Amino acid sequence: MAYHADSVVLTHGVGQALDLIFSVLFPHHSYGPSNILLPAPGFSQYSSLLANLGTEIRYYDCVEENDWEVDTKMLDSLCDENTRAILITNPSNPCGSNFSQEHLANIVSIADKHKIPIIADEIYGHMTWSSPFIPLASISNTVPVITLSGLSKRFLLPGWRVGWIALHDPLGVAEGIREGMIVWGNRFFGPSSIVQAALPEILATPSEYFDAVTAKVEKNAQIVHSGTTAINGLYTNMPAGALYMLIRIQPAAFDLNDDVEFCTALYREEAVFVLPGLCFGAPGYFRVVLGAPAEIMTDVMERLNVFCDNHRV
Ligand SMILES: *Cc1c(COP(=O)(O)O)cnc(C)c1O
Repeated sequence: MAYHADSVVLTHGVGQALDLIFSVLFPHHSYGPSNILLPAPGFSQYSSLLANLGTEIRYYDCVEENDWEVDTKMLDSLCDENTRAILITNPSNPCGSNFSQEHLANIVSIADKHKIPIIADEIYGHMTWSSPFIPLASISNTVPVITLSGLSKRFLLPGWRVGWIALHDPLGVAEGIREGMIVWGNRFFGPSSIVQAALPEILATPSEYFDAVTAKVEKNAQIVHSGTTAINGLYTNMPAGALYMLIRIQPAAFDLNDDVEFCTALYREEAVFVLPGLCFGAPGYFRVVLGAPAEIMTDVMERLNVFCDNHRV
């Protein structure tokens, strides 16, 4: 993908990129009712940032049995004349999914049918192992795609606070969004010039570096997948990308009432900290981060096993 400089805005991480694009699409004195479609399970910062803009949030399901693919029928049915954007997270936090070209094309065709732009949060772009990462913008010949990414995840530089928005608008129908991006991008000056100066070299990082990082994450995913599969009452599928796995807790398998109780007790008793699915709109699950060294992940799985034995009913 090639972009003109006037289609790219640098931001303080994807968090600010989201805030910026939401502010452009949902101005406070909004022109009538509006809604946005967000994934469930999904990243909670979306709804936090949207909360004060007064737009309606509609959640579409990502389906566990289909490796967390979007329920495209549901996505289609949620679109109406007030829908201003469909947001997808690919690869996904918290699901660990990486969508196929065919699935992404289905999403684009729904957006095309309803004439709705897509915000593609691709902060985990290229962090995949079993299937290639396909940038959404690369397959849209019609629908405007607003791609967000940055240095926090794949480049392992979360504290440097560098992100970007890139607008792909093959038919030139999103001039208002482009103008809005530039105007809002000028409300703050950043990221800092020191970090910006380092960016070209950072972006030229040799692929072996990323391959090594991704191989470690994949190894951790295998440790967690095989460890979980051996535990009665827990279920997970093998992720294809990003840094996370969602693990389903079989209802009534343990003497703990819900995912929040499960995670609280796991932390107290085994000093293993995972987030309840509730944080991601996925009650009944918990999310594991695949970022620690493999020995620690192995230890985590042993502790999880002991914990589950102690609580199985
Ligand atoms: C971490 C994360 C972000 C935000 O990253 P920044 O540090 O603000 O660049 C955005 N989207 C998803 C899905 C994330 O997991």
